[in-house]
Amino acid sequence: MPKLNFSRHVTSLFSPQPSNGSTLEQKLNPSFGRSPLRLTPSPYISDKSLTKRWSKLATLTDQALLLDEMTLEHAELYNKNIEHFIGTVKLPVGIAGPLRVNGLHANDDYLVPLATTEAALVASYNRGAQLITEAGGASAMLLNEGVSRTPVFIFNSLLEAGQFVAWVVTQYDHFKHIAESTTAHGKLHDINVNLEGNHVYLVFEYHTGDASGQNMVTIATNEVYHFILSQSPIEPKEAFLDGNLSGDKKPNAHTLRHVRGKKVAAEVKLSKQLVEKYLHTTPEKMMRFGQVTTTGAALSGGIGVNAHYANALAALYIACGQDAACVAESAVGITRMEVSEDGSLYASVTLPNLMVGTVGGGTGLPTQKACLEIMKLSGSGKAKALAEVAAALCLAGELSIVGAFCADHFSRAHQKLAR
Ligand code: NAP
Repeated sequence: MPKLNFSRHVTSLFSPQPSNGSTLEQKLNPSFGRSPLRLTPSPYISDKSLTKRWSKLATLTDQALLLDEMTLEHAELYNKNIEHFIGTVKLPVGIAGPLRVNGLHANDDYLVPLATTEAALVASYNRGAQLITEAGGASAMLLNEGVSRTPVFIFNSLLEAGQFVAWVVTQYDHFKHIAESTTAHGKLHDINVNLEGNHVYLVFEYHTGDASGQNMVTIATNEVYHFILSQSPIEPKEAFLDGNLSGDKKPNAHTLRHVRGKKVAAEVKLSKQLVEKYLHTTPEKMMRFGQVTTTGAALSGGIGVNAHYANALAALYIACGQDAACVAESAVGITRMEVSEDGSLYASVTLPNLMVGTVGGGTGLPTQKACLEIMKLSGSGKAKALAEVAAALCLAGELSIVGAFCADHFSRAHQKLAR
C-alpha cells in the first residue's frame, strides 16, 4: 500500500523557491507604500461616491452587474445597512413549501423563500415540507426569548470584585430604567453576575420585541455600562462593553440549554406509509441512523446534535434580511427521531438560538422585505411566528436529509442536481 508522505508535502509548501520565482521572504515580508487599489472612503451612499468608486472598479468588472437599475433606484435605502456601497449581489431564491406550521404564533401554510447557490438544498427542504404538510403539519412552540450583552469589569482583587457586585445588586431597578430609556420595544428582564477571579462579567438579557435585537441591546447596555463607570463606588481598573459571554455569532454550550434570541421546539409524527412514500425508507432505519450519528456528533465534539440546520438557516436568513453571521449560533440544537409504539416516526428539533427579527436589520430592504411578505411575516408582531417557521423548516430539512442517507440517495441527488 502506498504511504502518504506528509513531510514531503509540508516541505514543498515551505520551499524557499516558490514556483513564481519570488522567495518565501519576498512573499511574506511587509510591503509598505500606498495601495493603487485604495478607494475614496465615504460611508454614505450618494451618486458622487458611487461614481468615484466605480471609476476604479470598472477596470475590474462590469458595473451593470452589481449596480443595476433597481439597485440604483433604491440605493439610499441601503444607507443604514452598509458602508462603502458599490451595488448588490444577486442570489437565486427558491421556494420550499407549502410548509404547514401549527404553532403558538405561526399557524398557517408557508411558502418559504430560500436564497442559496447550493443545488439540491431547496429541493430537499421542499421534500421535507411536503411530507410535513401531508402529515398535518409540524407543531411548533416558542419556549423562551432573550438577547444579551455582557460587559466585563476588571478589579485589583477578589475583594474589590465582591464589593462591586454587592453594589451592582442594589442597582437592578436603576439599570432597567436606564437601559429601557434607549428603546421603546426592548425590555431588560434579567441581569446575571459571573465572577472569574477579579473579573466581573454582567449578563444583561433583554426581550427585543420583533427586532432580532443585537443593536438594540448594545445601545441599551452601553448606557448602563457608562452609568456604572461613572457611579460605581469601586472603580474598575479596566472595563469593556462586551466580555464575550453573550454567544454573539459563536456556538456555545451555555446557550444550548438557555437561549440566545428565540428558543423553539418543533415536532411531527409521520406514519410508516408517509415515510415510505416520501423518503423511501422506514422509521426504524431513520431512528438507527439517528443513534449512530449522535455517537458521531459526540466523537466530533459538537455542541448539540443535528444534521444541517445551517443549510436552512443560512438560506432563510439571507433571503429575509437576517444577520447571516448569526447562523454560527443559530445552527446549534438537537434533532431526535424515534419509532413510536404504533410504528410511526416521531421527529423533533429544538433550536435555542434563533436570531430572527421582522423589523430592523436588513428586514426593510426591498428584496428581503419581499421575501418576508411571501410568508406574510413582514413588520411588527411577526418575529415569534418567523422563529417557529424557521424551526419547522429545520425539521423538514432533517427529515429529508436523514431519509436520503437511509435510502442511499444522498449522493445521487447531488449528482443529479448539481453536476
Ligand atoms: P435595529 O434596526 O438596530 O433596531 C430595531 C429598530 O426597530 C429600533 O429602532 C426599534 O425601536 C424599532 N422597532 C419598531 N418596531 C419594533 C418592534 N415591533 N419590535 C422591536 N423594535 C421595533 O435592529 P436590531 O435587531 O437591534 O439589530 C439588528 C442588526 O444589528 C443586525 O443587522 C445585526 O447585523 C446588527 N448587529 C449589531 C451588533 C452590535 O453590537 N451593534 C452586533 C451584531 C449585529 P426602539 O428601539 O425604539 O424600540
